[in-house]
Amino acid sequence: MDCVVVGGGLAGLASAVWLTEAGHRVTLLERRGSLGGRTISMPLAAVDDVPDNGQHVFASGYRDLMRYLDSVGTRGHVEFPGHMTVREPGGATRTQAFGGVTGLRTAFGDLPGVTGFDRVRTMLAQGRLVRHVLARPAWLDEVTADEWFRRIKMPQSARDALWDGIVIGLTGDKTEISSARVPADLLRTGIRRAIEQRTAVSIGYPTVDLDTLFVDGAEKFFANHGVEGRNRAVVASVDVADGAVTGVTLTDGEHVAAAAVICAVPVWNITGLLDNVPGHEAIYAAAKQLTPVPIVSVNLYLDRDIGMVDWGEILYGGEGVLEQVWDRQRMHGRDPKDNYFYSTTVSAAYDLVGMSNDEIVDMQMTMLRRYFPDTADARVVHAHVVRMPKSTFAQRPGSAGIRPDQRTAVHGLALAGDWTRTDWTTTMEGAAQSAARAVDVVLSDR
Ligand SMILES: Cc1cc2nc3c(=O)[nH]c(=O)nc-3n(C[C@H](O)[C@H](O)[C@H](O)COP(=O)(O)OP(=O)(O)OC[C@H]3O[C@@H](n4cnc5c(N)ncnc54)[C@H](O)[C@@H]3O)c2cc1C
Repeated sequence: MDCVVVGGGLAGLASAVWLTEAGHRVTLLERRGSLGGRTISMPLAAVDDVPDNGQHVFASGYRDLMRYLDSVGTRGHVEFPGHMTVREPGGATRTQAFGGVTGLRTAFGDLPGVTGFDRVRTMLAQGRLVRHVLARPAWLDEVTADEWFRRIKMPQSARDALWDGIVIGLTGDKTEISSARVPADLLRTGIRRAIEQRTAVSIGYPTVDLDTLFVDGAEKFFANHGVEGRNRAVVASVDVADGAVTGVTLTDGEHVAAAAVICAVPVWNITGLLDNVPGHEAIYAAAKQLTPVPIVSVNLYLDRDIGMVDWGEILYGGEGVLEQVWDRQRMHGRDPKDNYFYSTTVSAAYDLVGMSNDEIVDMQMTMLRRYFPDTADARVVHAHVVRMPKSTFAQRPGSAGIRPDQRTAVHGLALAGDWTRTDWTTTMEGAAQSAARAVDVVLSDR
């Protein structure tokens, strides 16, 4: 079968690889000059380095993404160390493991900054939270995560120490915006996967840059298996005749014929592409509700070691300015002979995204000095601010069930991308799972 995949992000790459593995001829059309979509590296001549567009962390339940890495031969470049560290102003740290004794202590409300009666309240609130996660009451999609925490009486100290950060980490958005249903469903998926895999829920990281992890292996696979990859090929429409897909038309008017098409563009690029597809109005309406959320990351090259004790550290109380710091020396085995490289992340960075680079770097260095005493006199050798105004998408209350299925009303046409319906939200695994499902749809349509 001649297949076209539109979009060279993770969902498109995985679709192209898996259709090829299933024995089909694939053309991959990507509108930009390179593959990778939202998971890319950005070479920096000033420091002769290849940082990423933002730290991407993995969860232990990322099954389809790991299958993609197996297909392109790079699975060995992901590590799950089983712990992260929370750091307080002044430099006190507490390493959090995701299972075992530390996991149990967390369950009993033993969190940084949570003292006295708040520990008991936290333990009780977490019990209610787990009950809701498992029972999935319908009202969870009527309230924000913020309101949910109030209903279950989660103490503010426990929210500051753990739970608000978990919501931002899982949904990419603030507790007062995200539907409670989104983190609840993700926790449920994580628990289910942990039980299936008989492991504790854990998070991990790539030990190489994102291009090496996701793109280089795919390009080798394409070269070895005759996949035609065309960059700067912008698709204008998906073409349909008699209820079946016939291919796509590019913005320069070229028609690329195909018996199967997987359309793996991001939510903010779908409108207009499916005008020939019956039912496109509902898909466009859903896309309108899934609004973009910004992430700001800074690749900071400093003249000294700032004294991190873990690969990733969450700054307690750093919300909105500097939430997480990542130690590339530890994660990539990087030799700090010229400088020390730390990357930082602020999710749901609605305020930061409009500020100047200098303002962002100044604010982050001030925070680093508060949390890492060794940074007092540190000099910035080079700072690279990455604004991604469209990083992830928000799911506000009332949006459960609006994400469209991979199957469309058209024979041979499937949708993919992190915004289509999966067990996950806007994540790499959501993209990979959507690809697995989209491939199943077009293969079952044959
Ligand atoms: C800074 C940042 C940090 C993140 N952190 C994490 C994390 O820690 N963990 C996690 O799991 N996820 C994280 N994510 C989310 C994750 O990167 C995305 O969910 C995932 O990469 C989306 O993949 P996708 O293939 O669905 O979309 P994309 O990667 O956006 O790919 C879509 C592709 O389609 C192309 N395209 C669009 N229109 C057309 C057209 N008309 N014709 C041809 N091509 C077209 C685009 O150019 C793009 O290459 C993060 C995202 C960002 C930006």
